[in-house]
Amino acid sequence: MSAPTYDIGRMGLMLNELRLPTIGRLWSDFAQRSDKEGWQASQLLGVLFEHELAERAKRRLERHRVESQLDPTKTLATFDFSVVPMVSKAHVMALATGDAWLEKGATILLFGPPGGGKSHLGSAIGHALIDAGYRVLCTRTSDLVQKLQAARKSLQLPSALAKLDRFDLIILDDLSYVRKDQAETSVLFELIAERYERKSLLITANQPFSGWHNVFPDPGMTVAAIDRLVHHSTIFELNVESYRRRNASDKQKERRRQLPTDDHNGATTIAN
Ligand code: ADP
Ligand code: MG
Repeated sequence: MSAPTYDIGRMGLMLNELRLPTIGRLWSDFAQRSDKEGWQASQLLGVLFEHELAERAKRRLERHRVESQLDPTKTLATFDFSVVPMVSKAHVMALATGDAWLEKGATILLFGPPGGGKSHLGSAIGHALIDAGYRVLCTRTSDLVQKLQAARKSLQLPSALAKLDRFDLIILDDLSYVRKDQAETSVLFELIAERYERKSLLITANQPFSGWHNVFPDPGMTVAAIDRLVHHSTIFELNVESYRRRNASDKQKERRRQLPTDDHNGATTIAN
């Protein structure tokens, strides 16, 4: 039987139709190399498939990074654990792999005063989880509450909550900043209840639970929300001086050290 012949001009069209853009880009160079070096057909096919899969995985990761809305600069690599000695780096690194805690829909709670690194640490864990193949959404809590309230008004709350199910982790940044008027509806409680023991949340808040009475419509709901959140949770308290303020004052000291000694009367302004 004679070998089948193909119209090379059609290759591009077929690969396009099959949605194999990487093979479309690479096949001709690899085919030339294969002809020259006498590869087995399976070798050529294998190499092309591997490239298509690798590109797909890379694009998927990029998509997940964009949809997460995470600040690209706030990663574990840029987080300095030495300023938060109460946070175990080993514990954070273990959480950053996902696995068991995400599977049981557990919660991470980060508390501490402004500037202590809660948002940075939350974002860093988010990035690591995306690298590990998970899907993450990072949002200011009040923004998400606003969206869910709009969905409730148009009777779309169940489907809005269902859409959020695609995220293995939702980072609710600054929970205690939910405004009083937003707390009139219970959408935040519904999100917490809906995800309980199924899909994880990471929450940052300046005030631990005692300051949450403004966040939910009534005390009973506040207790019920806290109860669900703490049931399977890891709590980190970043009770440190603001990183920004400390940095600014370190810089100020350094500048002073470099100035002549009689120049110490100027007013000190510490950037925030
Ligand atoms: P919070 O959310 O607790 O108010 P942020 O995470 O926004 O604080 O931190 C304030 C600023 O200081 C950010 O620019 C953050 O990147 C930086 N920062 C805070 N803690 C650290 C840290 N441990 N290592 C590196 N940068 C930090
Ligand atoms: Mg913050």
